[in-house]
Amino acid sequence: MTAPSPPLLRPCPTCGTPASVARDNPDRPFCSARCRTRDLMSWLDEDYRIPGPPVDPEAIAPTTSRDED
Ligand SMILES: [Zn+2]
Repeated sequence: MTAPSPPLLRPCPTCGTPASVARDNPDRPFCSARCRTRDLMSWLDEDYRIPGPPVDPEAIAPTTSRDED
């Protein structure tokens, strides 16, 4: 007796709607292209928000000035 194939449904990472993860779903694991795009945009948005101030090379360069004898 073979087990019935499980439903290939997983909650969409964006909206939580059960989405098909079968090969015929080009937007898997998302439920739609809209959710896939939204996830990508939020990912890029976070990528732009890297913490930390911009580094000024001259600010971290060792000081070459020294006192004369
Ligand atoms: Zn979705």
